[in-house]
Amino acid sequence: MDNMDQVIYLDNNATTRVDPEVFAAMEPFFCERYGNPSSIHRFGGSVAAEIEQARCRVAELLGANFRDKDGVAAEIIFTSCGTEGDNAALNAAIAVNPDRRKVITSAVEHPGILSYCRELSRRGYETVLIDVDGRGRLDMDRLAAEIDENTAVVSLMWANNETGTIFPVCEAAELAHAKGALFHTDAVQAAGKVPINVDDSMIDFLSIAGHKLHAPKGVGALYVRRGTRFRPLIFGGHQERSRRGGTENVTSVIGLGKACEMALANLPLERAKLARLRDRLEKGILERVPDVRVNGDIENRLPNTSSISFEYIEGESILMLLDRENICASSGSACTTGSLEPSHVLRAMGLPYTAAHGTIRFSLSKYNTETEIDRVIEVIPPIIGQLRAISPYWNERRRAVGEERNA
Ligand code: PLP
Repeated sequence: MDNMDQVIYLDNNATTRVDPEVFAAMEPFFCERYGNPSSIHRFGGSVAAEIEQARCRVAELLGANFRDKDGVAAEIIFTSCGTEGDNAALNAAIAVNPDRRKVITSAVEHPGILSYCRELSRRGYETVLIDVDGRGRLDMDRLAAEIDENTAVVSLMWANNETGTIFPVCEAAELAHAKGALFHTDAVQAAGKVPINVDDSMIDFLSIAGHKLHAPKGVGALYVRRGTRFRPLIFGGHQERSRRGGTENVTSVIGLGKACEMALANLPLERAKLARLRDRLEKGILERVPDVRVNGDIENRLPNTSSISFEYIEGESILMLLDRENICASSGSACTTGSLEPSHVLRAMGLPYTAAHGTIRFSLSKYNTETEIDRVIEVIPPIIGQLRAISPYWNERRRAVGEERNA
């Protein structure tokens, strides 16, 4: 792309820009301080202290205040991504609870959980997917009824990546513990956007990913509550206190620590700014375009995420026309096996076919401005008008409305 500077990037739930301050914190660890933190010599060994500082910063963002006798935030394990954290948590929970053969999650989780659960089904585990309602809210009665003495782990996302809907994870963790089950939450989309305080909860495992909060791709962290038994997913050297083998991704770990420090310091201000911009976007679109709906739990969702269905047209076509205007967003469809199916999240919410297919996810970051949002509000109505003019569903609907009026 030749004009990338002009891009209006509203796809921050897919990935975020690395903050220049994060990048600056990482830089010395590429070509100057490149030693291995496990080395005995000071050149490498001094890097270990930087890793421990990053670990403390991650712990602070999550409200994990425990420090061991050496001052180490030992509840944090660095991983390669959110998916690894999700897999590692489920793997540990079932390994330490071999007599329990049931795993409970929701129908709207990320594939990092759902695919692992499918694998567990193949291995003979009973896996239960709890449904959501039309607003993406979890069926808590069903959850309470499903958790039993055979349940090894309950895994529920803190916030949904498509709609931003927030689940009552602290309440769910209490339900799990009451039956002796462990509790994991995928907080990949929530970390840095809403307050998290694991010490005030019964959460055993929590996973995050650096690239959703302005750190680089390919790094993440898994919180494991002090006292919760753990079995590694990756066996190897003694890194991460023998809980995750492999030489540390030092530069990215340092970046993740810096990003967590910045996210915590700026959380209240950024949260308010993001919600203001999101509301401006939604209001602008709803005022100008008919037959539009905003999806998810409007009162209880991430401040940066807006899932909007433009009825009677295809999300992919909207994205293509937005792309021509240098606007990046994403759709609620997944191109699977050659057919454009609405995502499993929108299907679980029971969105009508005509709405699910025309769903766009706008996800904002601290770098977005009012001017950008106003530009999007300006270009959306003609794009939708153009696509509806050639949509058989839209024309059918207009005919039906006209006939009703004339009747
Ligand atoms: N969980 C959620 C809710 C996500 O949105 C994502 C990424 O989109 C992941 C897990 C996976 O994270 P990663 O891409 O770092 O593996």
